[in-house]
Amino acid sequence: MNLRVSAIWMTLVLNVVMTTGCNNQSRIQTKTTEVFNVTVSIVPQKYFVRKIGGDRVKINVMVKPGADFHNYEPKPEQLQALSDAKAYITIGIPFERAWIDKISGINTQLQIIDSARGIERLPMIDHDHHKHHHSKLKLETAIETLDPHIWLSPTLAKIQARNIYKGLSKLDPDYRAKYLENLNIFLQEIEQLSNQIKENLTQIENRKFIVFHPAWGYFANEYNLIQIPVEVGGQRPSPAELVKLIKKAKKEKIKVIFTQPESNTNSAKIIAKEIDGEVLFISPLAPNWSENLLEVSKTFSTILD
Ligand SMILES: [Zn+2]
Repeated sequence: MNLRVSAIWMTLVLNVVMTTGCNNQSRIQTKTTEVFNVTVSIVPQKYFVRKIGGDRVKINVMVKPGADFHNYEPKPEQLQALSDAKAYITIGIPFERAWIDKISGINTQLQIIDSARGIERLPMIDHDHHKHHHSKLKLETAIETLDPHIWLSPTLAKIQARNIYKGLSKLDPDYRAKYLENLNIFLQEIEQLSNQIKENLTQIENRKFIVFHPAWGYFANEYNLIQIPVEVGGQRPSPAELVKLIKKAKKEKIKVIFTQPESNTNSAKIIAKEIDGEVLFISPLAPNWSENLLEVSKTFSTILD
């Protein structure tokens, strides 16, 4: 065989091998990964995963809009629906810890991607942080309760985006380059968003705000604001605690109590009435993450001054 013939022969052999290989792969892919299923816990995660995964991923959200994720229990049919998910992307909220074993038991192939990896959580802060009257047991629980609302900080969102990118690339290596491209676009978007938020908040002098449920701790840290929660240890305040908070609000000249659509707003209304102020809604769980944070910063810039 001369060189030319053997080269042609090699090409033919390679073609056959590659074609067969591809055929096998595409058969597997149409079955399981053409568009693969990924489950997330809360709505804002869907925004992140869509940004990185594009239309490669079908995203299923466990906690539906309007539901409270803090005390959430997945329904049996939701667990069943996880049987064909390729991955569960966690964010470190309490029900995941309780349910992930069960979920993995239903689908042993399920990959767990921890989008919160490398993020150090802060303790939840009460408005009366230094003067707890709780029993020792309750105090210990309070100390151990770390703030789960990490998606509300653009800086921490970048870490989550990188974790999601790594997870999806491992799961679907053929699309790694696309995911990387998407990641870089998203990181840029976050950077721009953060700059806009900073700009909106630079002029504010009174940087304290009252919010019913302290979801905005990481956001406040990042933009040099001070969050004063109405809730105490995740509970509605007692009448005495409410009185204290009203005093504080008057002293700080606070005129707005922020709350979220998922919360019972009665104590927020009581405070608002006492300080001759109003209740405003800001959502930590809005589906359009980026636009929502920008809106929140605009609201703060008009309300706090
Ligand atoms: Zn919360």
